[in-house]
Amino acid sequence: MTTAPKPDILAAFEAAKGFMPMNEGLALYAAAVGAARLGLPLLEVGTYCGRSTILLADAARAAGVTALTVDHHRGSEEQQPGWDYHDPETVDPELGVMDTLPAFRRTLHRARLEEHVVALVGRSPQIAKVWNSPLGLVFIDGGHTDEHAGADYEGWAPHVAVGGLLLIHDVFPEPADEFTGQAPYRVHLRALASGAFTEESVTDSLRVLRRTGAGI
Ligand code: SAH
Ligand code: MG
Repeated sequence: MTTAPKPDILAAFEAAKGFMPMNEGLALYAAAVGAARLGLPLLEVGTYCGRSTILLADAARAAGVTALTVDHHRGSEEQQPGWDYHDPETVDPELGVMDTLPAFRRTLHRARLEEHVVALVGRSPQIAKVWNSPLGLVFIDGGHTDEHAGADYEGWAPHVAVGGLLLIHDVFPEPADEFTGQAPYRVHLRALASGAFTEESVTDSLRVLRRTGAGI
């Protein structure tokens, strides 16, 4: 059985600014629906304007759990002015620096999912440091440097409950295919080498791993 979002959720997803293609979004949604049944919160690293958050939020809503989403909202390296993934609409006109929080708030409001989401605004490692509760799903889609992706893995993967899911986006095993580096691929390899995670599915650059072992 495949689990697909209802048309209104799909329409909100398609209308939202962001970097999650439809095919991977559908896989993300199906994984989130399954993981939410554990009764634990779902957490995303890398909110941007809320495109993928919509899918986690709708899965959380259906199971009566909360979706958490982490971002400092100042953009990744490749999203800064002058870089390939920059969108001038994400710049705060008063400060002249990126601020994706307003667009994220609009996305969730339009999708009528605000009450199912808690936004954690800050740096991922700093939030992870004060986090101490199990998660049904962790979706790593934040910064693409080794420093950031590695810290996301180290900070959040230990909080995935046994039986829960670790998802990693932008995994490109072939250097020729990648657009923003292979750090997520190296995180994927680390997760597999830890012995704590078993691969469940591959959809384009999205990897779904289940936590099957205790030690990381
Ligand atoms: N999931 C989004 C895309 C995320 S883009 C979608 O579906 O469209 C990556 C995001 O990670 C950016 O918004 C950036 O601000 C954030 N980010 C990068 N490094 C971070 C860090 N160390 N802490 C918190 N957020 C970070
Ligand atoms: Mg991504």
